[in-house]
Amino acid sequence: MKVISGICVMPLLTACGHQTETVKSADFFAMDTYMSLKAYGSDAEAAVRESEARIYELEQTFSVTNDASDIWKINHADGQSVPVSADTVSVLQTAQTMHRECGGAFSISLYPVLRAWGFTTGEYRVPADDVIAGLLHNVDDTLISVDSQTVRCPDEMQIDLGAVAKGYTGDEVMEIMRAHHISSAIINLGGNVQTLGSKPDGSAWTVGITDPFAPDALIGTVSVTDKAVITSGNYERCFTGEDGCRYWHILDPADGFPADNGLVSVTVIGYSGTECDALSTALFVEGTEQAVQHWRRSGNFEMILVTSDGKLLLTEGIAAVYTAKTEMPCRVVHRDDES
Ligand code: AMP
Ligand code: MG
Repeated sequence: MKVISGICVMPLLTACGHQTETVKSADFFAMDTYMSLKAYGSDAEAAVRESEARIYELEQTFSVTNDASDIWKINHADGQSVPVSADTVSVLQTAQTMHRECGGAFSISLYPVLRAWGFTTGEYRVPADDVIAGLLHNVDDTLISVDSQTVRCPDEMQIDLGAVAKGYTGDEVMEIMRAHHISSAIINLGGNVQTLGSKPDGSAWTVGITDPFAPDALIGTVSVTDKAVITSGNYERCFTGEDGCRYWHILDPADGFPADNGLVSVTVIGYSGTECDALSTALFVEGTEQAVQHWRRSGNFEMILVTSDGKLLLTEGIAAVYTAKTEMPCRVVHRDDES
């Protein structure tokens, strides 16, 4: 095995010692989080290197702080139209669809409110009610206009793609893997797991689901192939205020406060990383009942909800491949249930 600047290269041998294919992995920090990539195949080294470069490119494109990024330009355009990359157009279109489909629970124009809470810098504080109310006047994703090459936001509005950018990035990595004929890959972009095919031995990938009440442990695992497994939880980017209350980084656009609608974590399992990422954030804000209705309407994802009173809810399409690691009471929701 050799290690080249964080990239691990290891030939895989058959039982009789012949080299069959290579496993390549890379661990690095990007988009403000730890990332790891692992691919199996004869072209795996190129696939992993290209993927890592693409992640850095997208980090530049979507950054809210880099003055060369598309998002920085949109946020500082004084209401003018800005030419942007196809990547930005694509993510913004998904964000707009999600905003429409979940009655405003998903809103990329919350950025100034997130900043007031300190979630963008880690300098956490509880903003005064009138500060939040003032900032909410400029939160309205319907006022963002996106065409095939340009984007325009109202003067006072600022956006951030924190809820969806990593899912899109994962999809782009998977495209690169496919272009290099990789049949087996798993990536973890700061907790967003995406898998390509199955493990090299043909069995499904096992992905752990964090216990939101004990984030170093798992509530369970799911066995998946060709799927994204993406979680939004209240245990990340959170703080305890001087009032003794806990606050977290997923905000309810209805009031600008951390979404507290009965859920502490939402895991979405589906084919598109972009959609699963946007959905996990949106369903967290929607809360249990609306999330279940959303799932019944949609039909192209499965989910695992953990409620704030310590219950687990699985949709029928994921229940068979879920293995519990805790005693948490569990209910399986069926598409045809009345409840
Ligand atoms: P995620 O971890 O994918 O759920 O994304 C959470 C991130 O999305 C936060 O750190 C914010 O940057 C942003 N965010 C918070 N609340 C919302 C919301 N209601 N709609 C869209 N983005 C949000
Ligand atoms: Mg998300």
